[in-house]
Amino acid sequence: MKLSIDVRAIDGLARTGVITTPRGELPTPLFMPVGTRGAVKTLSSEDLEQLGIPLILGNTYHLMLKPGADLVADLGGLHRFMDWGGHVLTDSGGYQIFSLTPKVTDQGATFRSTYDGSTHHLTPEGAADVQSKLGADIQMVLDVCPPLPSTDRVIRDAVVRTDLWADRARRAFLDGAGWRTDRGLDQAQFGIAQGGVNLQLRREGAQRTVAHDFDGYAIGGLSVGEPREQMLPALAAALEHLPGDQPRYLMGVGDPASIVEAVGLGVDLFDCVLPSRHARHGTILTSEGRIMIKNLAYERDEGPLDPACGCPVCARWSRAYLRHLFRVGEPTGARLLTIHNVTWLSDLVTNLRAAIAEGRFDATRRAVLDVWG
Ligand SMILES: [Zn+2]
Repeated sequence: MKLSIDVRAIDGLARTGVITTPRGELPTPLFMPVGTRGAVKTLSSEDLEQLGIPLILGNTYHLMLKPGADLVADLGGLHRFMDWGGHVLTDSGGYQIFSLTPKVTDQGATFRSTYDGSTHHLTPEGAADVQSKLGADIQMVLDVCPPLPSTDRVIRDAVVRTDLWADRARRAFLDGAGWRTDRGLDQAQFGIAQGGVNLQLRREGAQRTVAHDFDGYAIGGLSVGEPREQMLPALAAALEHLPGDQPRYLMGVGDPASIVEAVGLGVDLFDCVLPSRHARHGTILTSEGRIMIKNLAYERDEGPLDPACGCPVCARWSRAYLRHLFRVGEPTGARLLTIHNVTWLSDLVTNLRAAIAEGRFDATRRAVLDVWG
C-alpha cells in the first residue's frame, strides 16, 4: 500500500501535511514513541490514546524472541494483543541485531538472543514475514547498520548489501500480497537508506533504495554518535534523492535540536526512546532545557515540571511530589515522568506544524536551538 503525503504547507524545505493510511490519518511532522516490547515503558494503550498519540513503534527483534511472532499472530496481531487502535510501525530488528555483532552474509544475519543466548537467523524475507505476523501498519526492511565511525569501504559494503536485501524484502512483501493487519488493512513497507556520513554514499544509498519503489522511505544509521554537523549534511544528501510525495522517516533521532533541524530539511516522521528513557532516569524535558528531577532545588518546589507544558501531569502534580516519587523508586513516578516527557516531545513536533503553516518555521527553529542547540 503506497503511502503518499498530502503536503499542506511548506516553509523553506520544511513541510507539514497528512499521510493517509488504510487505518486513518497521520498529521506530519510527527514523533512516534517507542513501544519496544508491546508497550511504551510504564504506559498503557489507554494512556497513549488519552495523550492523542496516533502512531507507535514496535520492535521486531524483541517481539520475535518474546513472546514470538506466531503467538502474537495467533492472538490477532499486535493491535489486538495491545488493544491499541492507533497505528503501529515495526522496525526490522536490523539496528538491534547489528549492535550484537552478528555473523552477516548476503543471505542474512545470525545472532544470539539477549534473553537466553539461543541462536537465530534473520533474512530480509524472514523480517518481512515476522512483521506481517505482528500485523504492523508499516513495516521496515531489514538493513545493514554499520557502526560509526566506519571506513568508507565498510559503509559502501553496507549500502550494497542493504540494496540486495531491499530487493529481496520488497519481492517477499509483494509476493505475500494479502498480508493484512488485524482489521484486514493493507500493510505498507518502507525502505531504509544507509550511507554513514559520507555524502556520496548517502546519495547512492537513497537512490538505490528508491529504485525498489517502496511505500515510504526511512533514513537509517544516523544519530549513532556522530556530531550534528556531520549528521545534517548526510541527511540532506539522502533527502535530496527521496520522492517528495512520499513519507520520509528519520530513524532513532529524538533530541530536540536534531528534530527541529531535520524537520527543516523536510523530514516527516521520527521515533526515539529518548523521552521515555530520560523519564525513567529522572531527566525531564522542559521549554527551558533539561532538568534533573532528583536535584535538591526541587525538594519544596510546588510548580509543575514545565509551566509551558499542556500535559496532564503538569496540570496536576508538583516537582516536589514527582521528585519524591522518583527518589524512592515508586513506579508511579516513572510513569508520570514518562507521560510528561512523551507529551512534551510530541508537542514540540506538533507545534512545528503550525510554525510551518504560518511561515515562521525558522524563528521557531532558532528558538529551539537557543535552548537545545
Ligand atoms: Zn508536562
